[in-house]
Amino acid sequence: MAARTLEARFEHLTVNDENDPGDGTQLYQKKTLATSTTKQLTHSTSRPNFKVALQSQKANTVTTTTVTLPSQQAQWKDRQNAPLPPSPGKKTQTTTTSRSSDELALSERTSDSYVDRPLVPRQFHLGMFEIGRPLGKGKFGRVYLARERTTGFVCALKTLYKSELQNSSAEKQVRREVEIQSNLRHPNILKLYGHFHDSKRIFLILEFAGKGELYKHLRRENRFPEWKAAQYIAQCAAALKYLHRKHVIHRDIKPENILLGIHGEIKIADFGWSVHAPSRRRQTLCGTLDYLPPEMVSNGRKERPSSYNEKVDLWSLGVLTYEFLVGEAPFEDTQVMTQVRISRADMTIPSFVSPEARDLIKRLLVLDPEKRLPLEDVQTHPWIVKHCAKGARMSNPNRE
Ligand code: ATP
Ligand code: MG
Repeated sequence: MAARTLEARFEHLTVNDENDPGDGTQLYQKKTLATSTTKQLTHSTSRPNFKVALQSQKANTVTTTTVTLPSQQAQWKDRQNAPLPPSPGKKTQTTTTSRSSDELALSERTSDSYVDRPLVPRQFHLGMFEIGRPLGKGKFGRVYLARERTTGFVCALKTLYKSELQNSSAEKQVRREVEIQSNLRHPNILKLYGHFHDSKRIFLILEFAGKGELYKHLRRENRFPEWKAAQYIAQCAAALKYLHRKHVIHRDIKPENILLGIHGEIKIADFGWSVHAPSRRRQTLCGTLDYLPPEMVSNGRKERPSSYNEKVDLWSLGVLTYEFLVGEAPFEDTQVMTQVRISRADMTIPSFVSPEARDLIKRLLVLDPEKRLPLEDVQTHPWIVKHCAKGARMSNPNRE
């Protein structure tokens, strides 16, 4: 791949960490940690269900839990040679030992003798990467700009602290994110190239989104001009169409979960709430309140949300369109009132929004999921065609 181009780009990039306090203290503490732990790295294994040591808060007590992350089969290109993984195992609490993390790291390394076997797909470890500046801070760790040493390939390395994942019972969410995202290939979906871990952290190797969070751009511009909003929506629609064809429902489409590539193109990220649902009907309540569709809000009543399908993402696309054009979500209110208003599709579209855009919003924010405008029709909607038929195709030359 154009490693040299990416490498050149790397040299000129200045990506500020918006979460950094300003004095850089926190940032460089973490950076030092990342570098200093390089020596005690463990290789990830070639097993589909590899062992992840989840460290408890108490010193010297390490709880080893088997979690199912995608196999090496799902990693990098040369994985074709990989043996097929057995079917995913269930998460099982296996052992509790009282070794230090260093000892654990060492034992993991030595017990992984099979990493040297022929035909084993490429293994990743932290030492393979030059770590650059922090790109941002997530719930469970930081994201760094990184460069793979041998190829010069630039990527984003997302660190997740196992102890924090365990404390908030988020392992399932991460597993889901990794399993789903590593199997997706679309220009408007952030790629997950692979993953590995050491004794304390899980690392996700992600496509680098050069222009960062869309949310940040929206806040800076207050609201987007119609041509820009339309191009973004067209690209989101293309990505969602691809996801739905693969029976993946994202369930958490919002500006905070959308990144922008170096050319300003949409990169949908954060698949923590997404679900692979071949049956296409789900009953779990998730997502962020402002973007929840009516079929997923309980409207104050203590009843289970009714079952829903991929059409939840169409509702979120409507909310997104509104927010891009107006600068705030359509049902923003107190928590209770947001739910009430969602359940009635009670919104006011300001008069500065064009009639075409207004029409699209109204066709997406429809209470009956089956009556929401299908993605194919979003792509050919007059507002989209007017503003971005050319632009959208330019950034997605080979996609629908
Ligand atoms: P949260 O729920 O707070 O979003 P998270 O664990 O999902 O937590 P991320 O969104 O992955 O955290 O990362 C935090 C920040 O790092 C993002 O807001 C973004 O600014 C930056 N970031 C994450 N991934 C990338 C990437 N691939 N390219 C560029 N920047 C990124
Ligand atoms: Mg995020």
